[in-house]
Amino acid sequence: MKISFHEVLLKKRFPLEISRGVNSESSNVFVRVEENGLIGWGESAPGNTEGATNTKEVIAQLQQLIDINIKDKSIYEIEKIAREMKISPCAFAGLDIALWDLKAKKAKMPLHKLLGLPLPKSKTSLTIGIMSPDSVKERIPLLFEGSSAKFIKVKLGSNKGLEADKAMYNQVLESIKPYDIKLRVDANGGWSTEEAKYMIDWLSKRKCDYVEQPIVEGKEKDLKTLYKSRSLPIFVDESCRYSQDIITYYEYVDGVNLKLMKCGGITEGLRILSTAKAFGLESMIGCMSESSISISAGASISGQIDHIDLDSHYNLDPDPASGATMINGVTMPRIAHGHGAFLKNEPVC
Ligand SMILES: [Mg+2]
Repeated sequence: MKISFHEVLLKKRFPLEISRGVNSESSNVFVRVEENGLIGWGESAPGNTEGATNTKEVIAQLQQLIDINIKDKSIYEIEKIAREMKISPCAFAGLDIALWDLKAKKAKMPLHKLLGLPLPKSKTSLTIGIMSPDSVKERIPLLFEGSSAKFIKVKLGSNKGLEADKAMYNQVLESIKPYDIKLRVDANGGWSTEEAKYMIDWLSKRKCDYVEQPIVEGKEKDLKTLYKSRSLPIFVDESCRYSQDIITYYEYVDGVNLKLMKCGGITEGLRILSTAKAFGLESMIGCMSESSISISAGASISGQIDHIDLDSHYNLDPDPASGATMINGVTMPRIAHGHGAFLKNEPVC
């Protein structure tokens, strides 16, 4: 098996601001695995909270793993070794996705079928970052005019405080009136527990479906207080990295949001889904700054996921890869063997 890395700069059409900062571009690592003329594609999006902050760290960590000779090992064995070697989840995700893509291509099956999963049915959210009410007025028509998207995820938790959050949300409510769109909110841990309690109640009276990560990662104990009096479902994202995290707060949340970059790829992503189901929780899948390669991997496992947020590739200009597209509001993998996505300007095998 030949493994190679391609570093690519991804530029966003609209910069994305969340409670922790603004992001207008990122460099990702595309992982190419080749065996017997078949090629598997994966993608690693480095991140400050995902254990590798740039492409060099991702490549160095993956090289360390490849150097121990993973050739005859299963994906599960390779994942176990990667955990023991403390390879960061965002780095391992690139290799894990590529290996699953290759496995499905060897089996001559779409990845979702290989995994025994149906195609996705739930429509994706499009994310709108923290911005002024004036910017909301401009942005909503740009995102939704002529689009089949039906949900907005509104990022709140502004460092300007709750009044800024409320002004932005009120403008979103006003601006979506011409469209048939539903709302959900992600605070990215930007509220104190008291603020979260107040905002969940405020949002429950203003057409919000649910709230994601109301309080910061590390304060999961406070979810207990929040959960008792909640007037909207609460999902955790940053607080859910691996399946074993779920046992610490399953009684105090309504659902979990998995991301391939946060958990290390498809292998652990599937464990998170099974664990969430075993504890009676709802599930969500989200993304980081990713192209349509890792979005297609996410779409391939999203057939039984309740809420979908696979939209980062729609905000790339250009998307360096080709794969999942929006069909009737659903982020749908391209129907082909594997996850269906590939880096453009590269041969499709
Ligand atoms: Mg989130």
